[in-house]
Amino acid sequence: MKMERAFSLAEHFISINGEGQRAGELALFLRFTGCNLRCAWCDTMWANEKNAPHTEASLDMLLGLARDAAAQGVKNVTLTGGEPLLQEGIGKLIEGLIRLGLRVETETNGSVDISPFIGEQRPVFTMDYKLPSSKMEGKMLLTNIPLLKQEDTLKLVCGSKEDLERAYEVIKSYAPECKVYLSPVFGSIEPAEMVEFMKERHLGSVRLQLQLHKLIWDPAERGV
Ligand code: SF4
Repeated sequence: MKMERAFSLAEHFISINGEGQRAGELALFLRFTGCNLRCAWCDTMWANEKNAPHTEASLDMLLGLARDAAAQGVKNVTLTGGEPLLQEGIGKLIEGLIRLGLRVETETNGSVDISPFIGEQRPVFTMDYKLPSSKMEGKMLLTNIPLLKQEDTLKLVCGSKEDLERAYEVIKSYAPECKVYLSPVFGSIEPAEMVEFMKERHLGSVRLQLQLHKLIWDPAERGV
């Protein structure tokens, strides 16, 4: 009999979505270990090694967590990491969660091809575009950008003025169909400076996003 592959689950919890189009709504978070990038300002480095502390979770276990959350009125599931799309079998998990009637938000780092996960049913993507201060811009898979639709989000995380300038170029060059958010690297750039930049460059369709969980709880707190 074929053994079912286990997912490397770093943590799971219910909290509010700290970012994205459903910011402020309750969500079940499933955080997986392992990431193929090493962003200079990563705030979840502890989960990025594949062998970081984790639970081996089966598909049934994860769907069970989702059913329990749905029974408590939760309508969203956020898949995060690390890089959740690197988990073997993640497509099956996404399908199962969608079948349960949940809105599945997949946070992905911009370097992994999202096309295999776009079929008749698809999750909602919040995709990062890594700017120069991350030192990972060279890993961005640009063919992902045209695949993002209205319900998806392209998140440009800015840690410097140079990042803002580059974000502007990316937005102008690719004119994404999805929502576009500028988000500060916590503690590296003043949000007020970003608002000034948006005003100067007439970025009327772009949103500034502050990570709610970092405002509500200690920025280093886990499981919130
Ligand atoms: S992609 Fe995300 S999880 Fe991976 S190193 Fe960058 S910030 Fe951290």
